[in-house]
Amino acid sequence: MDYFKESSNGKLTCLLCSYYCDLKEDQVGICGVNKNTGEKIDCLVYGHISAFNIDPVEKKPLYHFLPTSKSLSLGTVGCNFHCKFCQNHGISQEKRIDKSKYTSAKDVAKIAYEKKCASISYTYNEPTIFYPYAKDIALEAKKYNIKSVYVSNGFESKEVIHDMRGVIDAINVDLKSFDEKYYKKDLGGNLNQVLNNLVHFLRNGIWLEITTLIVPTKNDSELELRKIVKFIKEYLGVNVPWHISAFHPDYKELSLPRTSFESLKLAYDIAKAEGLNYVYIGNIGYENNTICPKCQTKLISREYFKVKSYNLKSGACPNCDYNLHGMFYK
Ligand code: SF4
Repeated sequence: MDYFKESSNGKLTCLLCSYYCDLKEDQVGICGVNKNTGEKIDCLVYGHISAFNIDPVEKKPLYHFLPTSKSLSLGTVGCNFHCKFCQNHGISQEKRIDKSKYTSAKDVAKIAYEKKCASISYTYNEPTIFYPYAKDIALEAKKYNIKSVYVSNGFESKEVIHDMRGVIDAINVDLKSFDEKYYKKDLGGNLNQVLNNLVHFLRNGIWLEITTLIVPTKNDSELELRKIVKFIKEYLGVNVPWHISAFHPDYKELSLPRTSFESLKLAYDIAKAEGLNYVYIGNIGYENNTICPKCQTKLISREYFKVKSYNLKSGACPNCDYNLHGMFYK
């Protein structure tokens, strides 16, 4: 795909996310890392990794995508959102790019192979703002049969989502709220675009899991939780996993308390009552089990990011042969 196009006013339009920043020469977009250099829009963070770790894939969190495997996880600096509670604000809200080190896409894929990682995760900051780099890594990784995972705020452009087909294998999207005003004022982007994009990730064959960080007084009302659950059920289906995650004070959101267990459990109970098959409570050491939707056998048991027991046979329930939703080792 083209990552930018000429706009009618002599500027260049960035096609990486749904802001579609219209940039004049030398101007940088909202994310702070894509710049009109005169001839093109240059992704300034290409090759410049700010954080690099090997994580269990459960930490992304992805619970239905190659469970127990390792994922080489990386991010750059910059973000197109400005969430006040960002737990990675040190890199996401940083605009200074350390160019002292360059890591080629080939080298990242090779490291993942040498470290026996089943996937590479583009995470820590918003990956769509460095999609040109992520895509090149993902294509190199395919040569080793290594998958690619996005951890995203879901504000990709429609062009990027279309291009992700066959390149990015799985995505965890933060659905941060169901309040348009809250998105605009406190987070970034807009709710409707994120909701549309969730549908499009599925249509493009990308395995989707959703995370909602429950922030006290901001998105924890019963009404709002019900709206989120109803959207997942009606537009994405009951087999899309929903991770309910606990907030702790961070960055500019320091005055709010931690999320109570009661609040997480309320969200969990609403989702289960509506019939979502895979609902998980994260960040608090709660035992998260995947239960067979057909015969109720316990299939996978986890605590934090650790898989405690794994009871699947070729991706299916050993008791009733129900095929679990997601991607599993055969
Ligand atoms: S990635 Fe998004 S925020 Fe950044 S320049 Fe492109 S359109 Fe703007």
